[in-house]
Amino acid sequence: MPNPAFPRQQGARQSPRERIKNFEPVVEGFDEKTALLEAQRCLNCKNARCTAACPVNVRIPQFIEQLLKGNVGAAADEIMKTSLLPAVCGRVCPQENHCEGACILNGRFKPVAVGLLERYTADTARNSGVLKPPVPGSPTGKRVACVGSGPSSLSAAAELRRFGHDVVVYEALHDFGGVLRYGIPTFRLPREIISKEIQTVKDMGVAFESSVIVGNTITVEELLKDFDAVYIGSGAGLPTMANVPGENLVGVYSANEFLTRINLMQAYKFPEVDTPVGIGKKVVVLGGGNSAMDAARCAMRLGPESVTVVYRRSREEMPAREEEVDNAMEEGIKFEFLTVQKEILGNENGRVRGIICTRNTLGAPDAKGRRSPVPVENSDFLIEADTVIVAIGQKPNPVIPKKTPELKTNERGVLVAKEGGETTMKGVFAGGDIIRSGATVLMAMKDGIIAAGKINEYLNDKK
Ligand code: FAD
Repeated sequence: MPNPAFPRQQGARQSPRERIKNFEPVVEGFDEKTALLEAQRCLNCKNARCTAACPVNVRIPQFIEQLLKGNVGAAADEIMKTSLLPAVCGRVCPQENHCEGACILNGRFKPVAVGLLERYTADTARNSGVLKPPVPGSPTGKRVACVGSGPSSLSAAAELRRFGHDVVVYEALHDFGGVLRYGIPTFRLPREIISKEIQTVKDMGVAFESSVIVGNTITVEELLKDFDAVYIGSGAGLPTMANVPGENLVGVYSANEFLTRINLMQAYKFPEVDTPVGIGKKVVVLGGGNSAMDAARCAMRLGPESVTVVYRRSREEMPAREEEVDNAMEEGIKFEFLTVQKEILGNENGRVRGIICTRNTLGAPDAKGRRSPVPVENSDFLIEADTVIVAIGQKPNPVIPKKTPELKTNERGVLVAKEGGETTMKGVFAGGDIIRSGATVLMAMKDGIIAAGKINEYLNDKK
């Protein structure tokens, strides 16, 4: 019998004091006992609000039911009907905004821990050899190129294989996974988990080529000579800088560079690896999103005296996952809310020595409904710092649109695409951060899946 009143289970966690000394996972995840206790809390609702609230509509009550029957392979099959990245999503999706936020238990009880159950299902099914890649459709003889290997292209590629098309993924970096690999730290998402999820996509017959910069190594026009359609899922990897005096001083990083050094190049293991990362004693991180939290928490693990996050609004408006903000606070990271950077100061050697900030108050809501920060007069103050990491946003890299005149972009460099991903160039579709300019793993996956359906229609019409 389901028992929602039973306490919500938690995975074992490293203590904050221990975990700031290593890059190992913060949360261990469920074992069989805790997974089954948690699964019993699910009411198996007929009208599953959790599934409706998930952008890729994971069949949540169905997979939990299979777990309760002891069929972990069948549970994984249920998830993989709509999502090829269950071990990733179980770890990094903002469940509070989707499945868990919609769970009927909210209010009287705590929501079912869907993220931890999804992670448990994927890991256990994989480790016991019962996670089976979905079966590809009968071969159609059509070929599709996917640009980029982040969650959007991975989802599009897997979906296109379900339709029976041949797929090749072209990635600019030397390794695959997009932000999952170069942005999100290993203590949230271990590298081997990304590799295993990508292996499932490979097992469906998708081919992968690394170190190919589409637009430079090969153009979109050239791809269209070899392929029947192209999907662009090249993300938004270009950092936005703060545009304040002093941004060129030594000791200022973009979050993108800082995180790539640590996560892709594993600079935290230097000199065991070739890439170093310089970190001072007093680190300031600008921003309030996932990048800012990841940069601050990586910096903390490199052993400085202090890490301070400067965010222009209040905690309520922070776009980062709630759980990661809590984790950052537990780890001793300081927060200066309602504060904005004004000028980075340097010493005689051109190195950062501090940052002047201004206090804000919250004014009227902006177009998205978030209250806008308004500077408070005569409120400037100095934070001492020798490292500043700018994590205030990112935008699409312009290489592809610059080299592909038929692809139209808006004033922010974002590719123009209709619902379903159709771009202004025939046979070329796009989705994920390249059309959203920074969203979430789930939204990128959703775009890839929907666009794969549109590409399939396009290829059928072409026949
Ligand atoms: P990406 O993941 O950016 O992948 C694009 C890929 O395309 C990259 O590998 C890139 O190298 C490649 N590429 C670019 N140009 C070319 C080219 N010309 N030729 C070939 N390849 C190219 N979302 C969450 O839901 N939860 C989180 O916890 C979370 N944390 C985040 C932490 C950080 C630090 C960042 C930056 C983002 C985070 N996000 C999170 C957002 C999420 O990761 C992104 O929205 C998502 O990865 C976008 O997927 P994508 O496939 O569109 O692009």
